[in-house]
Amino acid sequence: MRLTVLGATGSIGQSTLDLVARAPDRFEVVALVGGSRPAELAAAARAVGAKIAVVADEAAGPALREALAGSGIEAAAGPAAVLEAAARPADMVMAAITGAAGLAPTLAAARTGATIALANKECLVSAGRLFMREAERHGARVLPVDSEHNAIFQVLESRNISAVDRILLTASGGPFRTWSRGEMERATAAQALKHPNWSMGAKITIDSATLMNKGLEVIEASLLFPAVADRIAVVVHPQSVVHGLVAYADGSVLAQLGAPDMRTPISYCLGWPERLATPVARLDLAAIGTLTFEAPDLDRFPALALAMAALRRGQGATTVLNGANEIAVAAFLDNRIGFLDIAGVVEAVIGRCDASGMLQEPASLEAVFALDAAARRLAAESVHTVAAMRT
Ligand code: NAD
Ligand code: MG
Repeated sequence: MRLTVLGATGSIGQSTLDLVARAPDRFEVVALVGGSRPAELAAAARAVGAKIAVVADEAAGPALREALAGSGIEAAAGPAAVLEAAARPADMVMAAITGAAGLAPTLAAARTGATIALANKECLVSAGRLFMREAERHGARVLPVDSEHNAIFQVLESRNISAVDRILLTASGGPFRTWSRGEMERATAAQALKHPNWSMGAKITIDSATLMNKGLEVIEASLLFPAVADRIAVVVHPQSVVHGLVAYADGSVLAQLGAPDMRTPISYCLGWPERLATPVARLDLAAIGTLTFEAPDLDRFPALALAMAALRRGQGATTVLNGANEIAVAAFLDNRIGFLDIAGVVEAVIGRCDASGMLQEPASLEAVFALDAAARRLAAESVHTVAAMRT
């Protein structure tokens, strides 16, 4: 299978390449794309024998070329080279760039008709049905990598879709699950970056601490499983063993369980419809002993409520929610705003966009890019205001 990996130096990208290295006969790696870190990208490209490696950061181009000299692997840099590599013929493209920065490359891949293994939830939240329609128009199947959606994909019986009562996404609750608002107000980036169960990139780890991640995932589920979009719910499950559940009209609930290791859902996509063997730790239920579940607390975690409200409001609101959140998370990681300010900034930006009539459904992908940019500008202003009040 010809495989391209977008976001090859990231957490999902590295887990994907780990599986590829274990089954070298199964995969022919076409392109590896990263944001920067040319040395790591070159090492990964050499390890799997990629045809081309591309860094988005133009300035990292010379270092990448140097690191690949004599290997026979092509090297390129810059946003245009990223799009060109994403559009090279492949059977599957792992879309694992973080943030809406992944939208244009993922669209370029989808337009070739390749199967898209979609980890990059932000591109879906931002572009919504326009993304799904574009993929469909080009015959590109979208397989969910996100663990909850992958779980649902595994247990959702398409022939019984009308008998689905609810689909349930589990949430670990993040590192601040039991913290008060007062404690969260003083939370540092280092504390928020310590996820109890999963090892992931910085942006999604902060989203997991605010529960914005679960909000983005509810929106993601509504797009991946449109037939049950009105029946999506969230349950907090601190052990991260049950990843997703589907409840049916006969009272049956089907769930997918597994160790919290993204190589399981990634391999499910890489092998689909077959199952591949992975080195993931086997689930020892007797050793785990107890699985617990609780309702999410929308008062302490307003980001989840904001995302669910944006979903009800429509695509314009989810585009704005995502863009504003990306700016707010970056500002929190830079120690410019506090942890609770993340949801505050997002709420303020949605409010301002609403007041200026900007939340109607974007009519085109160009309109999505423009609205995303506008939301980021307003979020940067809001961050500035909040930061000024803090000092
Ligand atoms: P990460 O930060 O570890 O990796 C991001 C990758 O994207 C890196 O390779 C980086 O170089 C690349 N990148 C960043 N900006 C880029 C740009 N402008 N152009 C090209 N490449 C760029 O992130 P991650 O944890 O691997 O997450 C990737 C995506 O998968 C996110 O959308 C995240 O929400 C989703 N996801 C991750 C996990 C997980 O366990 N890590 C689980 C579910 C979903
Ligand atoms: Mg997830």
